[in-house]
Amino acid sequence: MRKKVIAGNWKMNLNLQESISLISGIKNGLRTLSSNVEVIICPPYTSLETASTLVKNSHVKLGAQNMYFEESGAYTGEISASMLKSVGCEYVILGHSERRTIFGETDSTINKKIHKALASGLLPIFCIGETLDEREKGITFDVVKRQVVEGLKNVDTENMKKIIIAYEPVWAIGTGKVASKEQAEEVHAFIRKELIALYQSDVAEQIIIQYGGSVKPDNAVELLSQPNIDGALVGGACLKVDSFLGIIKAC
Ligand code: PEP
Repeated sequence: MRKKVIAGNWKMNLNLQESISLISGIKNGLRTLSSNVEVIICPPYTSLETASTLVKNSHVKLGAQNMYFEESGAYTGEISASMLKSVGCEYVILGHSERRTIFGETDSTINKKIHKALASGLLPIFCIGETLDEREKGITFDVVKRQVVEGLKNVDTENMKKIIIAYEPVWAIGTGKVASKEQAEEVHAFIRKELIALYQSDVAEQIIIQYGGSVKPDNAVELLSQPNIDGALVGGACLKVDSFLGIIKAC
């Protein structure tokens, strides 16, 4: 039985004071929820250190939204894996579609980031997913397969066990257009089949595959009850205590 993992991607939202207030709300809400769901929050860099102090001794784990694959040096504006570790991050989101489309990240860049994160002791939340155009052209499975194969190139079995995959159809992110449970489950099952081909079934069966794309409390139950959907990567709905807790309750 795989556990459920709910992660909140705050994106470029919430200043330090707002972050403190959201984290307090989440922690208070989780106290009254007896849940064995793993909860991860991914605030912006500017709130990470404070967030790390606030989530200590709670069930909430901390992640970042991105990092660069080099150790240090002349990379103005970038943040390294060891910097994230030093402020208490356990997870890092890599390959989010906004990084791919707005900032030009490629499968190869993302692969380098995955290797650097793993070597530095960070657990990647590796995002993949097709655009609307790709879905309409009928190449969803080709795109997702390429992203899996290229993104995970040279990742060995032991390291693979540390990776969470987030399937996020780009057309469902921030649009309110959620994939149907059948559409989501079909791609999740396909991803697991590809993982079986790459890593054998005992490893593939352990891997958490989250769904992301307009997840809300009212659609979470049907998505999360699919056999290959092991959690959610949540954008908009993670910025409010009630909606984020509502999704956790759905588990
Ligand atoms: C995301 O950005 O990863 C995401 C899934 O966003 P939203 O929930 O707002 O669609």
